[in-house]
Amino acid sequence: MNFFCFSPKNLQLKNRANKFSFTRKTSNTCSFARKNVRKILLAIVCCTTFFSCTPKTQSKSEVVMGTICTIKLFDDGTTKLYDKIFSRLREIDNAFSTTIETSEISKINEAAGIHAVAASRDVLFVVEAALYFARISRGAFDPTIGPLVKLWAINTEGAYIPSDEEIAKVLPLVNWRNVQIVKNENANETAQGSNITIHSNSENASENSQNASDKNANAKTAGTIMLLQKGMSLDLGGIAKGFAADEIVRLLREAKVRKAIIDLGGNVFVFGKKASNELWHVGIKNPNDATGEPIAILHTSETSVVTSGVYERFFIADGIRYHHILNPKTGKPARTNLLSTTIVCKSSLASDALSTTIFVLGKTQGDALLKKLSAEQNSFVQFSPIENFASPLASIFIDEDETLFASRSLEGNIEVGLNEIIFE
Ligand code: ADP
Ligand code: MG
Repeated sequence: MNFFCFSPKNLQLKNRANKFSFTRKTSNTCSFARKNVRKILLAIVCCTTFFSCTPKTQSKSEVVMGTICTIKLFDDGTTKLYDKIFSRLREIDNAFSTTIETSEISKINEAAGIHAVAASRDVLFVVEAALYFARISRGAFDPTIGPLVKLWAINTEGAYIPSDEEIAKVLPLVNWRNVQIVKNENANETAQGSNITIHSNSENASENSQNASDKNANAKTAGTIMLLQKGMSLDLGGIAKGFAADEIVRLLREAKVRKAIIDLGGNVFVFGKKASNELWHVGIKNPNDATGEPIAILHTSETSVVTSGVYERFFIADGIRYHHILNPKTGKPARTNLLSTTIVCKSSLASDALSTTIFVLGKTQGDALLKKLSAEQNSFVQFSPIENFASPLASIFIDEDETLFASRSLEGNIEVGLNEIIFE
């Protein structure tokens, strides 16, 4: 049984059963010329066999977006396709990173309270999507979380516990309603089907777009983004990897890849079927187990599986764990009785945003939001990389007692050890 688990902490796909076969076909299998075969037949056979035995790269890993990204294309893994995928990942990183000074997000942040900045369709699409999740979660997910992320500096050498005064100073800067998006007139076709509300004031907007400093980006510009208050900053760390995974899915579909695993530091998409009638096995990490051992195994296919948890990035002070998912209302790491939230959904962008959102909301409010979204037949299907892709939502929550709460739709497809699992 093939098995892999993602462990965002050590950022590795693990093959516990060690049965993934990464063997390359060797030239031995090609050498079957027989002495007494006619020349012409021999030439044809050799030629055909040479091509069918061209070794394919089973998987490739690179550090992009501050994490280890592993793509497994199995027998469809050509150098050209890997190059295309990783260059798309780097392109996304270069646009979204808050640590790359020249990124679009850095430029938007730098111009906060001053002027609007031209935005590519990628950035416009993801910021719009992020504002959608902010709206439906009443700000539990907030892409303007940047000033708080900077203040806590979790996962950097500067990480510390800020005082209540410091937090109170920064909190007013975290407000998704103060993001103004203006789309170019022809942006509808470039914004990948998004039709969500745009927070804009068109008069100011055209003024602002004239001020847009990033004129060079105009060729790729789909509109402008402005943060209305000085000191505000965007941080799309809770959604950008999901978008990136969806973009890879798009490339895989174009390239007619049959099966693949996308793992962007734990943001997983299992593409196609492992084998006929066989599902992929995705490990759900035990939040209390530093070794990365899974607490459950989910059997699934053609979907994204994304987890947000207390164990991903954190520091411990006086026995208290301070992790990287912040509650925009309190300005502190979100504290509910959940240790991790996993969302299973065809749109990786939605899985990513929702796993963070639900982690902040906690079980009761999180359940209510997921039920509402399911009842609305997934209003976020617009964020799927694939048109008309029905996108059922499922979730797995793990609480402080290590009890698992999973969607009924997953019943029969999750293996757990000794832990209690409740389907609801
Ligand atoms: P990871 O990307 O580490 O796997 P998440 O997807 O849950 O985990 O995203 C956490 C990241 O999202 C944080 O590092 C930060 O950049 C950002 N973030 C933290 N709190 C929030 C929030 N309430 N809303 C939106 N983004 C957040
Ligand atoms: Mg997320």
